[in-house]
Amino acid sequence: MRLDKLIADCGYGTRSEVKGLLKSGAVTVNGEIVKDPGRKVDAEKDVVLCRGEAVTYSDFEYYMLYKPAGIITASRDTKEKTVVDLIKSKRRRDLSPVGRLDRDTEGLLLITNDGQLAHKLLAPGKHVDKVYLAVISGDLSEGIIEGFKTGIDIGDETLTKPAVLKVFATPEEAGDDRIIEKYKMLANSGELHYNTVCVTLTEGRYHEIKRMFGAYGCTVEYLKRISMGGMELDTELAPGDYKEILQEEIDKVFL
Ligand code: URA
Repeated sequence: MRLDKLIADCGYGTRSEVKGLLKSGAVTVNGEIVKDPGRKVDAEKDVVLCRGEAVTYSDFEYYMLYKPAGIITASRDTKEKTVVDLIKSKRRRDLSPVGRLDRDTEGLLLITNDGQLAHKLLAPGKHVDKVYLAVISGDLSEGIIEGFKTGIDIGDETLTKPAVLKVFATPEEAGDDRIIEKYKMLANSGELHYNTVCVTLTEGRYHEIKRMFGAYGCTVEYLKRISMGGMELDTELAPGDYKEILQEEIDKVFL
């Protein structure tokens, strides 16, 4: 591959920024300074250093992000920080989030440049389970669990796909400190009746969970995704934290 592409793909800047780096003599291939951006290199065999640092090429990168509230799910934005901007140690510049969480939703988001995996997890026919914990305000009507199971009219052309709703007897039953914290904060305000729940969806429509509860006169006060297709949010991560996931682990979970 071209030397400038290799260096740009590994996160050292745009192609034109990389040209500047090359021109300044910052790049060596097998110990020799190379200034020609079009120089062909073998990413597996040639030793490429940029400012003395090894440039190691990997086709795919995978990150598990604990998305914090307040950040938009996008690759890049001219005005706002995005979930991809939170991945400080990324080497590649072509990373995207797999699926979307609302600005105020927290939790598991996979970030990668592996388009095939993204398709496998998101294509409508694939029915990949996505599990969420939530704090809901309002009274849960009797038929709501059945409604989630059979499908709900949320104003789209079709009913929602069958989903599983579990209502916890106590917030502690959710087994998640953040849910307990949010529940207590809301319950202490004393204004409404709150419940903690777990929802499993197999599709991903715009504001889907919020609209499903909305159809029953309830409001989602806090929403957190805890798993997707068998990959669980690492409980060691705090909002805003992330970790790189190796190809072997991805293969184990998703293949
Ligand atoms: N459902 C929602 O309403 N919001 C999300 O972010 C994810 C699922």
